[in-house]
Amino acid sequence: MWKAGYCLPSPASDANHFAPDSSLYLNIDRFERRPDLSYAGYALDDIMMKMTVIGCGDAWGSNGRSHTCFRLDTSGGCLLVDFGASAIVAWNRMGFDLREIDAIVISHLHGDHFGGLPFLLLQSQFEIRRTAPLAIYGPPGLRTRLDQALEVFFPGVAGRGWRFPLEIHEIEPGAPAEVLGLSLKTAQVVHASGAPSTAIRLSGRGKTFAYSGDTEWTPALTGIAEGADLFIVECYSGDRPVTGHVNWPTLEANLGVLKAKRVAVSHMSDSSLARAREMSRAGVIVLDDGLVIDL
Ligand SMILES: [Zn+2]
Repeated sequence: MWKAGYCLPSPASDANHFAPDSSLYLNIDRFERRPDLSYAGYALDDIMMKMTVIGCGDAWGSNGRSHTCFRLDTSGGCLLVDFGASAIVAWNRMGFDLREIDAIVISHLHGDHFGGLPFLLLQSQFEIRRTAPLAIYGPPGLRTRLDQALEVFFPGVAGRGWRFPLEIHEIEPGAPAEVLGLSLKTAQVVHASGAPSTAIRLSGRGKTFAYSGDTEWTPALTGIAEGADLFIVECYSGDRPVTGHVNWPTLEANLGVLKAKRVAVSHMSDSSLARAREMSRAGVIVLDDGLVIDL
């Protein structure tokens, strides 16, 4: 059941109240597990690249959206982009299994984008007893920050070692890398996180997924988005400029310079959610948790 208010606005609600176009959304029930969303046995060669929104909320979980996590299924495996603090809850609610994950790419080191990793690692260690390797990619500083987060939440655990091979890859912004057969390109963006914050572009087999990470509007985004089958851009503010984040008036003014085939918005605060109808009219996909897009 959706929370009342956003998806089922009362007739008295104002015209800008968020009323998503139902054709863009899965009819997902957030409070039921969704075994039909499991891809076990799916012919991945036929998918090429499938993106599932595990979470697309802002740091405060506005509208009940979970912290950022995008699942990409490709012929090379299952790749996650970001794993925010509440992503593990959304993951389990959707009926997925952490063993499905082959690799994770982290855009930047804020808790709503990487803070779920301690929970993921501990469930993998103690509950599902993972044996397969897990590779995590992110900006310089990832290893130290992850160790610190583990130590804060679960003191002493990180030093004991993992029962599965855990690879941590720190990628300098702009340095090319390869993840599960996809080429990974990052670009530094404008967002203070105590380490470089990056936008991400993953390409392979003629498909490209691109994501802004968290950032103010920056020309770096046009290069990341160019020609992408899907470009997800954060749009935290619906109106006023906010340091370190995109606002809707700026994004709307720059839609023409984004040469992506599809543009979608995530990381929306209440002020941004209030402009969702306007965004849809401008041709932008307003993400929500559970949405699936075939690239
Ligand atoms: Zn951030």
